Amino acid sequence: MSAPARTGAPALCLSDAHTHPGTPEELSERCEGAVLSLICLTCPPQAEAFLAKAARPYLIPTAGLHPWKAASFSLEEMKPWLLACPVIGEIGMDSVWCDVPLKLQEDVFTAQLELAAQWKRPVILHTKGQEKTIAAHLRRYPNRYLVHWYSCESGLEDYLALDCYFSIGPDVTWNPAVRAAAARVPANRLLIETDGMSAVRWAAEEAPSPETPPETVRGSLERTLAEVAAIRGLTPKQAGILTRQNLTDGFLLGKSV
Ligand SMILES: [Zn+2]
Repeated sequence: MSAPARTGAPALCLSDAHTHPGTPEELSERCEGAVLSLICLTCPPQAEAFLAKAARPYLIPTAGLHPWKAASFSLEEMKPWLLACPVIGEIGMDSVWCDVPLKLQEDVFTAQLELAAQWKRPVILHTKGQEKTIAAHLRRYPNRYLVHWYSCESGLEDYLALDCYFSIGPDVTWNPAVRAAAARVPANRLLIETDGMSAVRWAAEEAPSPETPPETVRGSLERTLAEVAAIRGLTPKQAGILTRQNLTDGFLLGKSV
């Protein structure tokens, strides 16, 4: 493991509650930089390719048939990969960024919610444009839920009432809905994420006054952490320890934190 660059201050304790395999360089940075990362595998070929490789430190695989892929693969094909991972997801519904029929998305989503509840495995949720419908389904399947990158102007209360975890995305620097979530989530449910470096670059391009995207996973998480810390009245160091502990002890292990 290579030592962090000497800047005078110790490196922040970092975690990424939601990301994807990304490039080999991105994965290596996570392993070598001790960035605990939940790597979401969204369809059978991706899960098969990732899980065929030896386990690597700091990388935790999670698997779920993603709403964008709900028409391309069956749940039966995905099931062995769900069984192989300690967390189910990301799963959910999306009426903004894909045109997969919603009824099909909903059937695939609820079947996976049922399996997760039966197997007692926590779940990562993708809620884009379907926030109300998804919250209604969650009430039928009590479990531990992580809402990834919540960016809706309304509906946050439903998920707060369900005691969900929330991972704050890289547009927390400018997106009012994401900033509102960062401010309102209980301290013991607060997490951070990149959703992968391509999403980090997208978030920087979408900013009202364009931002220079961070070039590294560490750079992105440090930026998000600094922003979340400022919103919450914490130091980045405190926010780093808090979000990592919420991820390991809270979301992954189900201990009360
Ligand atoms: Zn994602």
